[in-house]
Amino acid sequence: MTQQYQNFIAGEWRPARSGERFGRENPATGEATGRYPRSGPDDVRDAVCAAQAAAPLWRATPAPKRGEILFRAGEILVREKERFARELTEEMGKVLAEARGDIQEAIDMTYYMAGEGRRQFGQTTPSELPDKFAMSVRAPVGVVGCITPWNFPMAIPSWKIMPALVTGNAVVFKPSQYAPKSAYNLVRALADAGLPPGVLNMVVGEGAQVGATVVEHPGIDLISFTGSNAVGRTIARQCADAGKPVSLEMGGKNAILILDDADLALALDGVIWSAFGTTGQRCTAASRVIVQAAVYDEFAERLVARAERLRLGNGLEPTTDVGPIVNSDQLRKVDSYITIGRDEGATLACGGATTNVGELGKGYFFQPTVFTDATPSMRIAQEEIFGPVTALIKVGSLDEAIEVNNGVPYGLSTSIYTRDVNAAFRAIEGITTGLVYVNAGTIGAEIHLPFGGTRGTGNGHREAGTAALDTFTEWKTVYIDYSGQLQKAQMTEEL
Ligand code: NAD
Repeated sequence: MTQQYQNFIAGEWRPARSGERFGRENPATGEATGRYPRSGPDDVRDAVCAAQAAAPLWRATPAPKRGEILFRAGEILVREKERFARELTEEMGKVLAEARGDIQEAIDMTYYMAGEGRRQFGQTTPSELPDKFAMSVRAPVGVVGCITPWNFPMAIPSWKIMPALVTGNAVVFKPSQYAPKSAYNLVRALADAGLPPGVLNMVVGEGAQVGATVVEHPGIDLISFTGSNAVGRTIARQCADAGKPVSLEMGGKNAILILDDADLALALDGVIWSAFGTTGQRCTAASRVIVQAAVYDEFAERLVARAERLRLGNGLEPTTDVGPIVNSDQLRKVDSYITIGRDEGATLACGGATTNVGELGKGYFFQPTVFTDATPSMRIAQEEIFGPVTALIKVGSLDEAIEVNNGVPYGLSTSIYTRDVNAAFRAIEGITTGLVYVNAGTIGAEIHLPFGGTRGTGNGHREAGTAALDTFTEWKTVYIDYSGQLQKAQMTEEL
């Protein structure tokens, strides 16, 4: 029998108030992976109530104690890593090695933020007046709404929940309806680690019902969202109307720049990994490859040969290089871009079709696809596809490569392959994305550095590293005057 999962509200595992459920299937095999509450606005209201009730005590809990609970949750994640990774592969399709990476990222973030329990540094600084002390301290925002996508179903929730908790916020978490089991595993680890009831609440369901209520509820003080631009922009407008702070991490149209002097074998490894890893379903996926003219033909030929050899299959099989696409809607979307690319005049050099040979017929498989002869303004070179599709663009110079790279509505990740240190530094300076890699692919961010993007990718915030603390805290500036008399700042002539 398919396992049933619940919401987590006020420290209890509860069904949706409506009693309704929905099922999820393995995108590689079609087999049922679990049944989940189809929650609605009432469930969100319960969760917000529980979070509001728990917030004052949690805020008053010393941060190092909050960190200790995270540390224990990290130990649970380490212990359960293999099981959680397999369940993650079964529910959203990425290959097992990458699923382990997803869990590892959550472990890294949990330990890192556990350490923040004893840091969360502010500033102390001299005052302009005598006998006066000045400092800044971080304060929690209150109740935080975390809304997450399916493509990193344990890592991304950890990027939000761990910094929110360690800084003293209560959380209402709305995971993706396409990957709720990994969300359950993360929340369960925190509950088993001893998190007090109500501090973290999870409500599973559709975006339009659950997510929208989380955004609109006046009891939620801050929204942290990762997902598509369409949804993110809507949330931004709603938050603007409500005067609610919001942190947005959205789509990408990332590129790898390959200069004439690059180590082509290394660049090829980087493109294969960045374009087809996670079946291209990463916000940082390399869906453009911008190649300097002298090596364009050779690189295109080698890339197509490698892409054609990639083995599609169930991510649990050790022989699989590329897993399925997450669901039928996404499969159709990816497929539609093949027609778009051809109609625009790009050359379909390999792939370009769904695959249903043998066992693959049970899942949502799409061949690794390479377009050549793409130009910068084509839709396949401008829009996020979120599948195993990449487009090669020929350029004459480094300056042109940088211009093409920056000329998209997104600004998340760029990589450059070159052996010329001067070119690498000029690229670092000229590239306007939030992440820049030299001689490595566009994917593989580490959790202790800021993560996020410019232009349409974000709204100026960064996740991870100490930057995450800025999202989930307010600065409180404190002046202590021990002179025993009225002192007036900015009026030094009266001193
Ligand atoms: P999505 O926008 O469809 O859904 C994201 C979350 O928002 C889900 O939990 C969904 O249920 C919820 N949601 C949907 N409609 C809502 C509404 N009206 N109000 C509130 N919540 C709502 O995105 P997805 O398909 O789950 O994820 C893929 C997208 O996420 C891609 O665009 C990808 O680039 C992006 N992404 C970005 C990053 C990053 O850090 N920049 C990381 C991973 C994924």
